[in-house]
Formats: sequence, structure tokens, C-alpha cells
Amino acid sequence: MKTLHWQEEASCRSLDPDLFFPVAEETVYTDQIAAIRRICAACPAARRCLEWAVATGEPDGIWAGTTPSERRRLRAARRTSRPATGPSRPATRTAGAA
Ligand code: SF4
Repeated sequence: MKTLHWQEEASCRSLDPDLFFPVAEETVYTDQIAAIRRICAACPAARRCLEWAVATGEPDGIWAGTTPSERRRLRAARRTSRPATGPSRPATRTAGAA
């Protein structure tokens, strides 16, 4: 499997992947998810991990501390907050802004 660039600095890189893929509904594994969220909270790749999981519609596992249902809600919220027409534009900086 190809490693994405941000995965090279991921806190979970050397951990058992099964930890991040609970096999049952997330409510059953609240302790496991809480442990994962502590790991993800300290991960330098968390922002890129979340963006990747949301952008690709990753249907399984805990990514950046989010469950599949949380990511579905985030995707839905992003879809409804976008303008109805026109492509999205990247954020730009104003010269001299901090
Ligand atoms: S945020 Fe969590 S799931 Fe994502 S790369 Fe970091 S440790 Fe792994």
C-alpha cells in the first residue's frame, strides 16, 4: 500500500491498525475511541489526516479522532455551507497580515 506523505509523521504509524478500526458501532467501544482520540490529539498529522478522510469519504475506522458517522456529518455540513454555484477557491492571505 502506498504511504501518503502525511502518514510518515503520523503518531499511529507504529501502532496496531486494528486499534483504529473497531468492528462494532462506536458506542460499544467508547473506551477504545477515547484512547485513540488521546493519540490523535497529539498527532502532528491530525489536520491532514482528517482532511484526507473527509475528502475521500473514508467509510471505516477512526481518523483524526473522528468516527465514520462524525465524518459523514462533517461532510454533510460542508456540502450545505458551500455556495450553490461556482468552484470553491483556496484561501488567500492578505499581504502584511499576520
Ligand atoms: S490523527 Fe490519529 S489516525 Fe490520523 S494519522 Fe494521526 S494518529 Fe493516525
